[in-house]
This record gives sequence, structure tokens and C-alpha cells, in this order.
Amino acid sequence: MKKVVKFGGSSLASARQFKKVKAIIDADKARGYVVPSAPGKRDGKDTKVTDLLYQCYEACAAGQSYKRILDQIKKRFDDIINGLDLDLNLDFEFDTIEENFKNKAGRAYAASRGEYLNGIIMSHYLGFPFVDAADVVFFDENGVFLPEKTNDELEARLASMKQAVIPGFYGSKPDGSIATFSRGGSDVTGSLVARALHADLYENWTDVSGFLVADPRIVEDPAPIETITYRELRELSYIGAQVLHEGTIFPVREKGIPLNIRNTNDPSHPGTMIQAKFDDAADEAHFITGIAGKKNFSIITIAKNGMSSELGIWRRILEVFEAYNVNIAYAPSGIDCLSLVFPASQVNDNLYALMGELQKKFNPDSITLTENISIVAAVGRKMAYRLGVSGQIFATLGQN
Ligand code: ASP
Repeated sequence: MKKVVKFGGSSLASARQFKKVKAIIDADKARGYVVPSAPGKRDGKDTKVTDLLYQCYEACAAGQSYKRILDQIKKRFDDIINGLDLDLNLDFEFDTIEENFKNKAGRAYAASRGEYLNGIIMSHYLGFPFVDAADVVFFDENGVFLPEKTNDELEARLASMKQAVIPGFYGSKPDGSIATFSRGGSDVTGSLVARALHADLYENWTDVSGFLVADPRIVEDPAPIETITYRELRELSYIGAQVLHEGTIFPVREKGIPLNIRNTNDPSHPGTMIQAKFDDAADEAHFITGIAGKKNFSIITIAKNGMSSELGIWRRILEVFEAYNVNIAYAPSGIDCLSLVFPASQVNDNLYALMGELQKKFNPDSITLTENISIVAAVGRKMAYRLGVSGQIFATLGQN
């Protein structure tokens, strides 16, 4: 049994959090492969180490004073080391980092040092070997991630290792410089490690007990989601649910590795389990998995008598949208009419040119624009098999 455990920034923000993490790892021998983030916020007013590193690098690159921020960053790590009574000194690492900052090693290099240093601390604390992500995660010269090369190298490197600490978020380019995923990218590293190891489970430890059925800022006390499929998760994230980094699902989904979101501060809670399929028979009550929403969509509706019998007209309409780089989110249709729903931001400057072209090309009976649309999506794999669900949803919308 092999488990990959990724710990987010808030799970590693202080020595106290590191102790919880060690207890979690010690509790299960299968938890051998650890992917740490950089130290996050210790409380609401705190700043993430990654943000401090960006600030520090920018000050240094602009020739402004950066020492104070660098000291602040070093103190964050020293506090953790001292709080854990580790025999470890990062002076040499910080001298190197300062030198590289002065030599303009780049923003990505700067940001990556949070995960790198936290990985070193974690490796000392657990007694697991350290694998620098720069040696096993690869990007091309333009900073585009290289999945196959990464998988081959990770697989080869980890094959003989029973335990390892691999820092999240970064990797290297062909010239040896550092590149990172976008923010929150340690989730992706965890998924890549799980895939390369053919792990049985990828546990993603954070500060909430999994996903919630709705956004708690809008709905009071929403129920937790116990099980969700990769596909449902993709739909909910598209429509605005803030969950994992968007690159996380693909590598584990491809190998059929389940992903479990867990809470470092409440380790006995089972969290949310994400996998391809569930045996749902036992769970008749929960037929909606989650509800999410997003604002600022627009709809263009084209109506033309006889449209339904005109071969290829939808394709030609969609080609016009494609030419304007508009990505269609939904396309509800009726007889002789088609509505195209898309994020308003995609047509900021081109809206009237796009509509003019549709008018000219298709000479429809009407073409209407509806703006300021919000989309609310109720997602649930079991909804399709249950009578009356849409009736209930529309009745609720009507009542409100
Ligand atoms: N430390 C990085 C960030 O703050 C990456 C991560 O935590 O996943 O975005």
C-alpha cells in the first residue's frame, strides 16, 4: 500500500502544525511520500511565505532594500526549526538564495524557495530522504509543463525509495533555471507523484474537512460532500467552486487513483473522497452532490425560421464565435433558435463586431443579447435517475 500525502501551507505554517503533520504520517506506514507546500498563514493577518518571497525578490530586483523581508522569511523557518528542536541550520541556504536573488535568478526561483526549504525541514524532521523537485519535475524553455518527461523521471527516481519528501509547486527548465506551476500548484505535484508511484491513494491535507455542498459564504452551514466523482468535481470547479488547483485531477484520474481531501486539524474526519465511480446504491438521500455559481456571463440568442432544417448552420454559427476566440460554456437550443452562453469577459471589445457578423452572415429573424447573467449549477451523478429533481429545483427558483 502506497499513499502520497500533500500538506498545504496552513498545515505547515508553524512548528505546532508540523507536529500534527508528523502524527498523521506516523499513524499510517503507507504514508511514505510527502509533498509539502511553503508555510502559509498562521492566522488571518499573517502573510504566506510565498508572497513574502515574491515581495523580497521584487524589492531586490528593483534595487530597493530587501533585507528586512529576507530576515522575516528566515525567521519564519527558524521558528519552525527551533519549535521542533531540530539540529538544522539554514544559514548556508539563505546565503545562496540572497546571492541568486542579486544575480536575478527570477521570480519563479524566488517563489519556489518556500517549498524547497520547507521540504528540507520536513525531510530532517521525518527522517525521510529529500528529492529536489528541480531534478524530477520538468518544464520546457517557455515554462510549459512536460508531463511525460516528468513522469518517467519521477517513476525512475522513486522506484527504489520507500519514503521521500518532494517539495511541491516547482521544477526546472532545460537550462536548469526554476519554473513553477501557477499559485496553489503543490496540489499538482502531489498528483504527479501519486501517478508516477501508481499510488493507492493521494491524500491532500488542508485546513477544511473536504468540500462542502455549497459556498459557506452564501449558504449557512452547508453539509460536507463525502463522495464526488472526478467529473462532478470538474463541473463544480468550472462553475466557480474553489477547490483544488485545476491541474490536479488529470494525472490521478488517468491512473484511477482516488483522491482524499483531509483536514490536518481534524485528522479523524474522513473528508471528501474523489474517484471515478462509486457504488451509490446505499446513499439514496444525497442526490445533489454540490451547487456552485458564477457571475458575468452573456447570452446571444439567434432565432431564424426554418433554422432546424438548415444543414450545418450551427457549425457555421459556432465558427463565427471561434473566429472571435469566444469559448462557449453552454448552448441551450429550441426549434429554430440557438442560445450561446459565454463569459462576458471574452467579448470585451468585440461584442458588436461579433453580433454584426452574425447578422450579416445568417440574416436571422432576431438576434438578442442578454447580459449580466449568473449561472447556478446543481451537479449530481444521481440526479439523472431520479424523478422530479428538475421540478424541485425550478419550483425553488420560482418560489424565490
Ligand atoms: N506556495 C504556493 C502558493 O502559495 C504553492 C502552493 O502552496 O501550492 O501558491
